[in-house]
Amino acid sequence: MEIANFKGEIKLQEPLSRHTSYAIGGPADVFAYPLDRNDLIALLREIRGNGLRYFILGGGTNLLVRDGGFRGVVISLQRMQAVKIEREYRSIGGAFVVVSAEAGAPLSRLLSFAVEEGLTGLEFAAGIPGTVGGAVCMNAGTVAGEFGDVIDAVTLLSPGGELVIRGREEMAFGYRTCTIPDGHLVLDARIILRRDDKKKVQARVKELIDARKQRQPAGLPNAGSIFKNPHEESAGKLIETAGLKGKTVGNAKVSDKHANFIVNQGNAKASDVLALMELVKAKVLEVHGVRLEPEIKIIGED
Ligand SMILES: Cc1cc2nc3c(=O)[nH]c(=O)nc-3n(C[C@H](O)[C@H](O)[C@H](O)COP(=O)(O)OP(=O)(O)OC[C@H]3O[C@@H](n4cnc5c(N)ncnc54)[C@H](O)[C@@H]3O)c2cc1C
Repeated sequence: MEIANFKGEIKLQEPLSRHTSYAIGGPADVFAYPLDRNDLIALLREIRGNGLRYFILGGGTNLLVRDGGFRGVVISLQRMQAVKIEREYRSIGGAFVVVSAEAGAPLSRLLSFAVEEGLTGLEFAAGIPGTVGGAVCMNAGTVAGEFGDVIDAVTLLSPGGELVIRGREEMAFGYRTCTIPDGHLVLDARIILRRDDKKKVQARVKELIDARKQRQPAGLPNAGSIFKNPHEESAGKLIETAGLKGKTVGNAKVSDKHANFIVNQGNAKASDVLALMELVKAKVLEVHGVRLEPEIKIIGED
């Protein structure tokens, strides 16, 4: 694939298992790493001109790619990860700092930046993997807070290459969702944090990471929580009390530690994870009368 004015990297038949925390997923026909906005615009123009499908990949930490891979172009923003202070202002409640982060920046990098600068507000993100772009799309968070809470504005790129700036209220952040028009990419996010004592921020981050280690399975590839928490009860509790901890299909297993995690015990196929998800959904419906909805995104061909 030759693209005029494209300075980034293109790979063909790239296994997506290399780009997902699940280590699962067949190949993408085309895998592109644009270097900057102009590259992205050139790439989108080429994609549109050829009538190709595309998918925007963040860290691949909330993603299950089917075994047949993806017919089209997977776009990774990994090469676009600048984080910087944009401006500071004083208001009721203290000294505030607006930090801008490109979509490809790892969320952990943004958090480390905040800690180093002695900025509070992002501690809830401690231990959440993935990128800033993914955190915007998924409104990533925990009971301690969500990404939408700290957003000031987000810059989007339309499929036609226009820049669109959306304020927090226009993004309609909800439980693991927000509204992004079809085909738009998140280019960067501006977040508002408050100056605080660096040691205190560090201590809160450490506390949350330690608590996470107690709760979540470590070591085996996974994609975090598989199902959204329904109103009735946490998905993990419903799955556990339906007797499903430790249940396997092929090499996919409902974690013994946290029942809303399905882990890849080694060479699991997407079809194993999907079959286990169906089994879990059916059993939870039978036992509790609750319909579970996936939190993970599922893409690609069988
Ligand atoms: C061990 C573990 C623990 C986790 N804990 C949590 C948790 O506590 N809370 C939580 O909310 N999540 C958690 N997750 C899930 C996951 O980390 C989050 O959903 C994360 O925000 C996904 O980011 P990502 O960059 O990996 O996105 P991906 O998985 O790559 O993509 C997710 C979705 O976002 C879209 N997307 C990504 N970047 C862009 C962009 N720039 N423009 C447009 N669309 C984009 C993708 O197209 C896809 O639809 C966990 C996952 C793991 C593996």
